[in-house]
Amino acid sequence: MSAPNKSYDPVEVEALKPEEIERMRDEALAAFAAADSLDALHEAKVAHTGPTSPLALANREIGALPPHAKADAGKRVGMARGAVNKALAARQAELEAERDARVLVEEAVDVTLPYDRVPAGARHPLTTMMERVADVFVAMGYEIAEGPEAEAEWFNFDALNFTPDHPARQMQDTFFVRGPQGDHGESGVVLRTHTSPVQARSLLERKPPVYVVCPGRVYRTDELDATHTPVFHQIELLAVDEGLTMADLKGTLDHMVQSLFGADMKTRLRPNYFPFTEPSAEMDMLCYVCKGASVGNPDRPCRTCSSEGWIELGGCGMVNPRVLIACGVDPEKYSGFAFGFGIERMLMFRHNVEDMRDMVEGDVRFTRPFGMEI
Ligand SMILES: [Zn+2]
Repeated sequence: MSAPNKSYDPVEVEALKPEEIERMRDEALAAFAAADSLDALHEAKVAHTGPTSPLALANREIGALPPHAKADAGKRVGMARGAVNKALAARQAELEAERDARVLVEEAVDVTLPYDRVPAGARHPLTTMMERVADVFVAMGYEIAEGPEAEAEWFNFDALNFTPDHPARQMQDTFFVRGPQGDHGESGVVLRTHTSPVQARSLLERKPPVYVVCPGRVYRTDELDATHTPVFHQIELLAVDEGLTMADLKGTLDHMVQSLFGADMKTRLRPNYFPFTEPSAEMDMLCYVCKGASVGNPDRPCRTCSSEGWIELGGCGMVNPRVLIACGVDPEKYSGFAFGFGIERMLMFRHNVEDMRDMVEGDVRFTRPFGMEI
């Protein structure tokens, strides 16, 4: 800023010459008009109206003028600043209106656009099959019983009359849970190899008569391939009451296969051995596809039963009195029957599933064709 000087001629103060003021005003107006965004306008505003803008600096020069020249110069600068501020406010309003209009368009929601639907899942056929079998027994008055999958060795083997040297106890069949010392036998806990320990638990928890159906997941040390899986499902039945016989067992099995496969179905029993039943039997059901017509009839071969007429389903028998005693039930007063079978196997022959791995991979494309059952 120049120092006050009484002999100062305003014409000689370059910044306050009329044409110079006009040039500053016009530059400001041009800069505002050229600003195509609110940010650009802000920059132009700082440059042309801020404290270091040419007009602000010129305004400060007025104080250095002699009194007679101050009014004239002040008027010119004031008018120029007024015009600049007016233009700035007008451009500001224009750009804000443009922004608001753009936001309305850009952020509009098109309610007619299709949205990403979450595809409907499907219940796994093992689950629906297990529930369907259990329902047959629930309808007969049986109660569903469940037990832990990490099971005490005593329930999995000892209570069920497996001797300590029984081959099923070996490492090649059973997953032993590691004990605190790292020794496989230390913990006394195994991943249950069958649903039969639930029988022992049910007998200890209830007083006879006991009618329970036990669906669940079991474990064996098998490699996963087309016909084996280390984790699979069984459903097991136990009835303990006064006066039960093999005839009751046979009638119950017949009713089950008739409920699941049709009224003309039947079962047959073949002698077998299991530690926890005596006598024990292997249970076959009539082939539900050919009903036995393929046997000795090469013209009508049956894939489902390999033309044998029967399909092996599972094991059964009268509950061994040793098991009743181990569970605190008097074998002189009560008798019982039990049977169990694998759900995967039933799913395979009932629905022609050829590879067990399809059941464990969790691909919904496998599950969906089985349809929904609730
Ligand atoms: Zn058949």
